[in-house]
Amino acid sequence: MSGDDYPEVFQVKEKFGGLRFYIDPLIDTVADQIYEAIDEAEKKSIQTCEICGSPGKQGGHGWIQTLCEPCLIEQERDTEIPVKEKR
Ligand SMILES: [Zn+2]
Repeated sequence: MSGDDYPEVFQVKEKFGGLRFYIDPLIDTVADQIYEAIDEAEKKSIQTCEICGSPGKQGGHGWIQTLCEPCLIEQERDTEIPVKEKR
């Protein structure tokens, strides 16, 4: 496959904390190969921290994100609902 033969990825969406790739479905000759590669990329994307790229896991509160441990802690600190001030 030469460089020009690569099909255009026309949509990449973030879905459930991972990436999902959509390709032109008309190219069936290489579809299996492509979907295999996409599968691989999707698996990787759900294990990669969105912030720093370190190995992470899906988690978060109320929304699904893929974060590593340090970034998750950081996020939780940032999004923490302030406790009512004591008088
Ligand atoms: Zn991280």
